[in-house]
Amino acid sequence: SRQPLVAGNWKMNGNLTLAESLADGIEQAELQVTEVVVCPPFPYLAALSKRTLTLGAQDVSACESGAYTGDVSAAMLNEMGCRYVIVGHSERRDGHQESNALVGEKAAQALSQGLTPIVCVGESEQTRQAGLVESHIAEQLKAIVDSIGGEAIAKIVIAYEPIWAIGTGQTATPEQAQAVHRFIRGYLAEVDPAAAAKIRILYGGSVKGSNAAELFAQPDVDGGLIGGASLKVDEFLTICQAAN
Ligand code: 13P
Repeated sequence: SRQPLVAGNWKMNGNLTLAESLADGIEQAELQVTEVVVCPPFPYLAALSKRTLTLGAQDVSACESGAYTGDVSAAMLNEMGCRYVIVGHSERRDGHQESNALVGEKAAQALSQGLTPIVCVGESEQTRQAGLVESHIAEQLKAIVDSIGGEAIAKIVIAYEPIWAIGTGQTATPEQAQAVHRFIRGYLAEVDPAAAAKIRILYGGSVKGSNAAELFAQPDVDGGLIGGASLKVDEFLTICQAAN
């Protein structure tokens, strides 16, 4: 009963011409079931805002407005037609020192403006080898729930993105993904069982046209957050189809 969701995270790739052509290709596709979202770089949001496709951003400020040079507010994203925003991507946690607490604040800020945060969690290779996947993810989830409040769980999306699988071609096996997705849903069920049954949990990390179907077939995998493969329209649509 959870509607599948596939979101393309374009990261810092392409140019306006590519953005328009990807948008054209996605708008022409007819997907009955899967909800499709694209997350272009900030400068292209305005150009895509009048289109019918569903837009998301790749980050948002934790603050409402003010003297925060270079940051973008949730209200601005709303104004540009965004309905979703990725928060806490590992490339921001690692590259911009975003803490669990800050990620939680960003999720709450997004919700306060009516945006749906796609909150990313996931462990490094080192953490997996140390056998600490569940405790690591639990800490990340705790900060999110503490910040948004248990009653808001049903209003967010979680993306499980193991860092070792991002951009590496080394996809988590369907069993590895399912085990963590099940853990995430179980953790949230302790806070609010009804919300945990409703929340969509996406898998991200080297999802391709060739492996999407087996990942999305897992009972707790409700779609994907797609990096590299979202920059090729045919492959991205194959992935969206696989979630249908
Ligand atoms: P890749 O699909 O390129 O591995 O990236 C995954 C990701 O980080 C999506 O947010």
